Amino acid sequence: MKLDLLTVGTELLLGHTVDTNAAELGRALAAAGVEIDRHITVADRADAIRSAVAESLARAGAVLTTGGLGPTRDDVTKTAVAELLGRALVLDDALLHGLEERFRTLGRWPMPEVNRSQAMIPEGATVLPNPRGTAPGLWMEDERGRLVMMLPGVPREMRGLLVEEVLPRLVARQQRAGGAPAVVLSRTVRTTGIPESALAERLAGVEEEIAPLTLAYLPSVDGVDLRITAWSLPREDAERRLADAAERVRTRAGDHCYGEDGADLAAVVLDAVRRRRGRLGVAESCTGGLLGERLTAIPGASDVFVGGVVAYANGVKTDLLGVAPEIVERHGAVSEEAVRLMAAGAQRVFNAYCALAVTGIAGPTGGTAEKPVGTVWLAAAAGEHVRALKRIFPGDREEIRRRGAQAALDLLRRLLGAA
Ligand code: AMP
Ligand code: MG
Repeated sequence: MKLDLLTVGTELLLGHTVDTNAAELGRALAAAGVEIDRHITVADRADAIRSAVAESLARAGAVLTTGGLGPTRDDVTKTAVAELLGRALVLDDALLHGLEERFRTLGRWPMPEVNRSQAMIPEGATVLPNPRGTAPGLWMEDERGRLVMMLPGVPREMRGLLVEEVLPRLVARQQRAGGAPAVVLSRTVRTTGIPESALAERLAGVEEEIAPLTLAYLPSVDGVDLRITAWSLPREDAERRLADAAERVRTRAGDHCYGEDGADLAAVVLDAVRRRRGRLGVAESCTGGLLGERLTAIPGASDVFVGGVVAYANGVKTDLLGVAPEIVERHGAVSEEAVRLMAAGAQRVFNAYCALAVTGIAGPTGGTAEKPVGTVWLAAAAGEHVRALKRIFPGDREEIRRRGAQAALDLLRRLLGAA
């Protein structure tokens, strides 16, 4: 099939932002057998968007837009398209609820009034859920079956929606239209403890090696997932190429890779401790039980996981875990010295071969120049071996806590040398 690509954004025309979406969409759509017939860029102006979409529908019968779906006044793509297709904007209750939930868990409550507009959708449109941001994608067909797909401009959100929502639908649509019998199959290589950009450097050139399969970087607080997809290939061919591609990606990712597809790092760590016939206890300050939650969520954890101490107050760190008060006095509760002793304390309290400890500053207050919000000390212990690590995590309180729990698990995984 053919479609027009419309990137929306005044900043793209002015050259303030390079239109990376167009390049990425070109590659990904081509690999899925979808041809971009024409690429247009317009400013954030309703009249410009309306006439570009109208022209593309007349020419190609399908158009994919990116940008202009945010909550601010210059985001007009959705209203312009709704107007063109003669659809009213209606409030989507489920979307509104999801948005409110998102703001609440991020601690940004009450939700700003402008964000309500993001829960308004053109009548008859299909919502494409966007777990990475507040603007969902939209899929609309007019009465003649002509297609408008709208995606947010933020590249990582655009990419996630493309891979998870748009391409599968486009491929299914092509197949209904009588394409060759083919499948779309994906495999995900999960990584953690390495930033997206560093991972991209390690993986340089792999996209060319695995073509026509595509590789998407899908970052979250748990790490970066590498999703490899084979589009519209005969099943056997797709499976063979996927196995080869996953092997290449895993090799390049090295020890940053902890598993594939639905793998949970907590389960990987429990397995590693189990293989050593050890048991595991945890001491958590800023994560306040998240580690225990992650570990006990895994079925069968009970033969390995003993228990945890939420050592929030300094008194618990000293009295229960045996961190000397002078250590806290001299180095602070968020320090390498304290976290190492917390891990040793957890080994002792739980009579466990392995232990994890976390202490940090989750914010929003409590940061200093020396120890800014997001500073987290982690320690993993296995018998005599102890490894401590300081990380400075980005994000809000919730995100810092979740990143802390994941990084602690990862530290023990690496200490035990488990894949
Ligand atoms: P928007 O969805 O239009 O509000 O865009 C959100 C962010 O994504 C802005 O920082 C834009 O500069 C960026 N962005 C929008 N369109 C593109 C594009 N085509 N390529 C790269 N970045 C973009
Ligand atoms: Mg914009």
